[in-house]
Amino acid sequence: MPQLIADRPVLHATSDLARVMAAAKAREKAGERILHLERGEPDFDTPPHIVEALAKAARDGATHYPDQRGDVGLREALVAKLERENRMTAHPDDIVVTAGGTHGLFLAMQALLSAGDELLVLSPHWMALPKLVGFAAGASMRSLPVYLELGPGGWSPAEFADRLRAALAPNTKGIYLNTPNNPTGVVLGRAHLEALAAVAGERDLWIISDEAYEHLLYDGAKHVSFASLPGMAERTLSVYTFSKSYAMTGWRVGYVVAPPAMRAVFGPLLAFYTTHGVFPATQLAALAAVAGPQDCVEAMRSAYDERRRLLLGGLRDCAAIHTPVPLGAFYAFANIREARGDGDVWALVEQWLAIGVAALPGTAFGEAFGDWVRLAMCTRREDVEEAARRLAAHHAAPARA
Ligand code: PMP
Repeated sequence: MPQLIADRPVLHATSDLARVMAAAKAREKAGERILHLERGEPDFDTPPHIVEALAKAARDGATHYPDQRGDVGLREALVAKLERENRMTAHPDDIVVTAGGTHGLFLAMQALLSAGDELLVLSPHWMALPKLVGFAAGASMRSLPVYLELGPGGWSPAEFADRLRAALAPNTKGIYLNTPNNPTGVVLGRAHLEALAAVAGERDLWIISDEAYEHLLYDGAKHVSFASLPGMAERTLSVYTFSKSYAMTGWRVGYVVAPPAMRAVFGPLLAFYTTHGVFPATQLAALAAVAGPQDCVEAMRSAYDERRRLLLGGLRDCAAIHTPVPLGAFYAFANIREARGDGDVWALVEQWLAIGVAALPGTAFGEAFGDWVRLAMCTRREDVEEAARRLAAHHAAPARA
């Protein structure tokens, strides 16, 4: 019998998130109530004016083959948004509309990485990264733990630059950056980004700048787009998504901004080799999102902020779980070294499931993070509060088996 599945490691990769979700589901089936803090899925409905725009566009006939690079009206609106919010100057031809940020990152990897190239991935990193790089035939990734050292009081910009320089290999083609960061909530300031820019310039590196959480900022933190730094637009692929800012995870729409030198490659990648473009009515709904009122973005941001405060407040006196304050995204990355005791992080995740709290082990974000757990705050406020209460009570109990 012929071999059925191609012999490519990426096709056999497993998902830690799927494992936690399956365990949670099994418990729910058995009648237990589980608080879902494992997944980065906003619990808000997509704002009604965006849903309406989709319905109208579909009724009006936006149902045919799309402009594969993206609807021109949407790309023009994105040029204005990039100028206004990201301080980036782009031409509509430098933007491609993708099936979400994931597809945008996939295209970026395909465009950039040849066999033998390495992508240095600043970590902890979003769990899809190994798979996204894995689809770029012959390329590899290496994880460089940095974000936990880049919060307040952490590495200076000069130290950050030195660490980056020391980590580069002769075949490092580029660096994957994600600020605001999933899972730590760390937001890199301008000075640290300038340090990265200096290294990228010296070593002629590309930067893939994943800005999925650009709008989710707290305590006055500011988002700086890497491509807005002097000289960096020409070596940056900036990846955006509508998923988080507008609670549009299911719509699968995002975009990549690339320098003009990349125009020739993104067209074919998008047109022939992957999705053949995004459903036109979805693109017109995305246009309504980006060109319409932005108060929905702020309303969701402030709701996440409230949950963040409740979670941090609820865990404040819990000595076994130490949670650095996240300034962006909607996750808390909690240090559980003490809470896990002699067991590993999966044992702790199981223990937490038994008290009804689903969370994701830090190892999903890089193997160095076995002392950490990610708690997602994009679920109901009451559930976030209750989860913190259960965790604090569980770890306060004097004699645990
Ligand atoms: N980048 C990061 C850092 C993310 O966390 C996510 C989603 N969790 C994405 C990109 C992609 O999201 P989507 O494909 O829904 O746009």
